[in-house]
Amino acid sequence: MGAVEKVNVAVIGGGPAGAIVAQETAKEGLRTVLFERAPNAPLRCAGLISMRAAEELGVPEDLILEEIHGGVVHGPKGNEVALTAPEAKAVVIDRQRFDAHLRERARTAGAAVLEGASAFGWDGEVLHTSVGEFRPEILVGADGAVSSVARWAGLPEPREILVAYQAEIDARPRYPGHVEVFLGRDIAPGFFAWAIPAGEVLRVGLATTEKGHGLLLFQSFIAKKFPNLRVLSTSGGLIPIGPPTPTSIERVFLVGDAAAQVKPITGGGLYYGGRAAALLGRLIVAGNPREYEQRWREWIGREIEFGLRARRGFLSLSDNELDFLVSLLEDRALSAFLLERGDMDYPSRLIPELRRSPHLWPLGFKILKALGGLSRLQDFL
Ligand SMILES: Cc1cc2nc3c(=O)[nH]c(=O)nc-3n(C[C@H](O)[C@H](O)[C@H](O)COP(=O)(O)OP(=O)(O)OC[C@H]3O[C@@H](n4cnc5c(N)ncnc54)[C@H](O)[C@@H]3O)c2cc1C
Repeated sequence: MGAVEKVNVAVIGGGPAGAIVAQETAKEGLRTVLFERAPNAPLRCAGLISMRAAEELGVPEDLILEEIHGGVVHGPKGNEVALTAPEAKAVVIDRQRFDAHLRERARTAGAAVLEGASAFGWDGEVLHTSVGEFRPEILVGADGAVSSVARWAGLPEPREILVAYQAEIDARPRYPGHVEVFLGRDIAPGFFAWAIPAGEVLRVGLATTEKGHGLLLFQSFIAKKFPNLRVLSTSGGLIPIGPPTPTSIERVFLVGDAAAQVKPITGGGLYYGGRAAALLGRLIVAGNPREYEQRWREWIGREIEFGLRARRGFLSLSDNELDFLVSLLEDRALSAFLLERGDMDYPSRLIPELRRSPHLWPLGFKILKALGGLSRLQDFL
């Protein structure tokens, strides 16, 4: 048996979260090793992030495939409303090349980035991997929605895990520069389906709470909405919703999807996970990683709680109610408000904005009345 290698930080998972932690710790001279078992895994992401996220995560210009100016929402009964902003609100990135770029940044910072290497156990001291044994002072679980590190350390799972499927199809967008969202219990029970332009292709996907029927729902969605188009690739993935508590114990820290640092309304995890990873890396370097739990929750915990309440409300809506809400987006004042004030990273910021916008209150009362009055608000609280 070979010697056990001592390292300061072992990071399991070389997705964005893991690569960012490794970069942060390695660049300050900590002996860091990153394990990524599947560096060439199929694309499991639509790659949609805000302009803010692209900037803060340092996405290189050449990995931006598309600028997004708005969205088209399809209600369950066929109501369809487009919202368009004059300026770009988001971008679609080449996710696989972005992950490789982040791992390269970690490598350049001095981390040992072991691609094709799997970690398969930890006994509290020694980490067992396909390339030998390691004794890390700090163990980071950046290993995705179903985290082995969490299991080894006895940490809980995310509250909910959705199944998702996505295909890249050979098609030009019907609405260039727009993301399409499809709602309805027949289409994507418990979540939604999407079509997102990504350069030469369209990323068409769906996430749902119906774990047993996800693939069938996805196939029927494609057949119905995008018939006779060439499917270039298909993949399945998981979306964790609702962070476990806690996300750390002693010397073990979860980050990214492993900690469900994901927007409950949209399933987007790149921004929250990426920022939390940078925070964790910096705290490890500063010698106070125990602050991580409190600090990441201070930053985004309330926003995620808001998202979870909004999700509860969303789940309580019937298809007719959803269709009614979609039709309201045709209201010029509302759509202008959403385009101007909406923030895909911090949706809760709309609420105080709404309070400050009396011209929209009548619409608010109309919504409340249609949904059955004040008591209905309980679904959202
Ligand atoms: C279909 C789909 C579409 C999405 N679209 C968007 C979107 O448009 N925008 C957005 O912001 N988010 C989106 N997300 C969410 C986003 O993809 C995730 O939040 C993000 O990938 C999380 O990054 P991560 O580094 O935490 O985990 P991951 O990207 O899952 O990386 C974890 C890595 O750990 C590796 N690993 C696991 N176990 C081990 C082990 N034992 N040893 C070694 N390596 C291991 C895996 O191979 C994997 O590469 C989408 C998710 C899905 C499923």
